[in-house]
Amino acid sequence: MCYNLCMKILMVSSEVFPHAVAGGLAEVIPNLSRELSTAGHQVKILLPRYYNIDRLLLEKHPEPMSVQLGEKQYWTELYKLTLANSEVELYFLDCEQLYGRDGIYGEKNRGEYPDNLERFALLSRSTFHLCRLLGWYPDILHAHDWPTALCMTYLKHYENSYRFEKTRGIFSIHNFGYQGLFPGDQLPATGFDMDEFVSAGFEFHGRINLMKSALINADAISTVSRGYAREIQSKEYGFGLQGVISRRTSVLRGILNGCDYETWNPSRDQHIPCRFDDDSMENKALNKNFLQEEAGLEMSSRPPLIGMVSRLVDQKGYRMLLGKNSANLRRICTNLDVQLIVLGTGEKWIEEGLREAAAEFPNLRVYIHYNEKMSHIIQAASDFFLIPSLYEPCGLTQMYALRYGSIPIVTRTGGLRDTIIDFDEDPEKGNGILIDLPLDEDKIYHAVEKACALWKDNKSRYDGLQKKTISARFSWKEAASKYLNLYSDTINARPS
Ligand code: ADP
Repeated sequence: MCYNLCMKILMVSSEVFPHAVAGGLAEVIPNLSRELSTAGHQVKILLPRYYNIDRLLLEKHPEPMSVQLGEKQYWTELYKLTLANSEVELYFLDCEQLYGRDGIYGEKNRGEYPDNLERFALLSRSTFHLCRLLGWYPDILHAHDWPTALCMTYLKHYENSYRFEKTRGIFSIHNFGYQGLFPGDQLPATGFDMDEFVSAGFEFHGRINLMKSALINADAISTVSRGYAREIQSKEYGFGLQGVISRRTSVLRGILNGCDYETWNPSRDQHIPCRFDDDSMENKALNKNFLQEEAGLEMSSRPPLIGMVSRLVDQKGYRMLLGKNSANLRRICTNLDVQLIVLGTGEKWIEEGLREAAAEFPNLRVYIHYNEKMSHIIQAASDFFLIPSLYEPCGLTQMYALRYGSIPIVTRTGGLRDTIIDFDEDPEKGNGILIDLPLDEDKIYHAVEKACALWKDNKSRYDGLQKKTISARFSWKEAASKYLNLYSDTINARPS
């Protein structure tokens, strides 16, 4: 079928690396788009032009675009760039009053922007105006997470002209913990009337839930691992939408993210002091020396160095890693011969807890910034990489850790569970250490203890494990081919 040969695909996202980055979503969009384009499909991406994105480096579309949302009219501009090493066109929606700000969703320690519903409704609504302006109508409209969830609702409820008759809506869940909740009376900001509150699928305990509406209105739904696709149907991980998602399992697929091995390649990485690969592992130790010196840690190969790089939010397990009054971190840092380095920014209570603990323990170093270079150095220097998440839809850092020969210690959940196998449970395929659910302080402590024992008492086993992890690959090509199957199955399905 012609569709399967060359599809027109429009991605809409609030984040695209390197222009707007808050989490893993930013990395998915360009990598997936590039692979889809390489496979012969036409791909365009739309995202807001936030303040930090320099207009002078972009090509301006000659015509302004007027977008109506309810009573309000917005004048927007479009800018364009071709994604590096591809034919993917990246469009930036410019609307100074809504996007000309420092943050994507809000500013540090000030919470989310109060007009986020309006900001992301405009992005979603503009998607259709962009298509009209370009005279280009996609076969697949692919929206990601709550900020672009409204694309699915507009497609079903507003865009029933012949122009979009053949367009199918795909909604990807990257994190079910953020659903886009707003007070019910803000609905007119989206252009929907209050009498559509329930019928268009927004109503969630009296509030607007954008993700709920997308789950109801999308033609198909994906999430970023098979494990997470199962978990979100349960009360524990469904954040109140487990019933809604369970009713759509016939169109739900779990597709594991790939890893960008161009950026994350220890043999070519420009960020790290000493490059290495499986045939030059001795150079990895030089990175450890470098980081120990830079971080003011004891310069020794004796203790294993454990790295962590993540947003500092509850989801990432910091409540239990720290423990009450930092008691768990205290016992890790005092009882175990280990060094720990954490890089991240996020919630104030975690930042403060980590800072205070770092002042107390000489074997703990904490960097509270967002720093690309440092994230590469930590991967290259560490012997183990700790991800004690409460839940993890896919997770990217365990994939980077494997590539950099840093053995992952991860919770048995979502994408972590789909990518990491405990070396004790399966000596042949094992590539890391798993922490069982439900997560608690003791389990984190014992997992770190197990890592220390492996390092100290069984170095040859550690080395064998490391050799195996470094050759593991999670390819975007494979992920893209699964998305293509989902797209063509959705196009070929009978309308529901
Ligand atoms: P999430 O999407 O939940 O934030 P992922 O593991 O999927 O988690 O992706 C997080 C990405 O953000 C990884 O590429 C990680 O290296 C990066 N990252 C997170 N915090 C920082 C930081 N402080 N500095 C640099 N990179 C970071």
